[in-house]
Amino acid sequence: MRRFFVEEIKLSGRYCSITGSEAKHIARVMRMRRGDRFVLMDRKGTRFLALIESSSPHEVRVSLIKPLPMPPPSPVKISLCQSILKSQSMDCLIQKTSELGVDYIFPFSSERTVVRLKEDRFANRLKHWREIARSSAKQSDRGVPAEIGPPSSFIALMEKHAVSDSFKVILWEREDSRDLKMLLKASSVKTITGIVGPEGGFTLNEIELARDADFIPVSLGKRILRSETAAITMVAIIQYEFGDLSLSN
Ligand code: SAH
Repeated sequence: MRRFFVEEIKLSGRYCSITGSEAKHIARVMRMRRGDRFVLMDRKGTRFLALIESSSPHEVRVSLIKPLPMPPPSPVKISLCQSILKSQSMDCLIQKTSELGVDYIFPFSSERTVVRLKEDRFANRLKHWREIARSSAKQSDRGVPAEIGPPSSFIALMEKHAVSDSFKVILWEREDSRDLKMLLKASSVKTITGIVGPEGGFTLNEIELARDADFIPVSLGKRILRSETAAITMVAIIQYEFGDLSLSN
């Protein structure tokens, strides 16, 4: 059954009104009409079987037939701190890591970040990224979409995460004594934060700042991966090791 999103399903009423891009999608793209059913989801994980009462590209009104259970969350909470990449690579990694169940994505600019977002473009980019996370959530049937934080500087990111008690790693292709595989095998992790660098990698100074904030530099092996490949691989490995990339959770 098709899945659509609203910001919030108000639990007080029997009806819900859908506007904006989801209404256009339902009425214009999918051509769904009165009497059609779909799953309506919101950001908090509330889900209902919904029945269309009226449908136009401006507004789709549905009645809420019955609540549906939310798929269980992964046993591990994953935050990805990602250096902002060129738009196609960034879109790709948001889509793929969302499918794999990343919980938070924190975009940042570091010394070698190529893409320099001007402040006035932040809002548009963020809206675009959140749209991708939302459509991945629909596609992959996850309970709630990945949350994407506003872009920040590397320094601000370190300040924010220095106080967190999450398990913290920074992917560094020049690390030669510790890899993610051995580190995860030796640990038991419920929340993990991983940082992935820009196309040009991190500077030594940034690796030191990350160490000061208790991030452990780790390697993903001898091959140098593109930044988006490294991010996707990291999330998949963590879900495999502690999360729900299996049927047993
Ligand atoms: N410009 C660098 C590579 C940067 S790769 C060079 O050519 O040497 C982009 C990012 O992906 C890195 O900052 C790192 O976070 C991650 N990454 C890529 N390959 C990796 C590996 N083998 N081990 C750990 N991290 C890796």
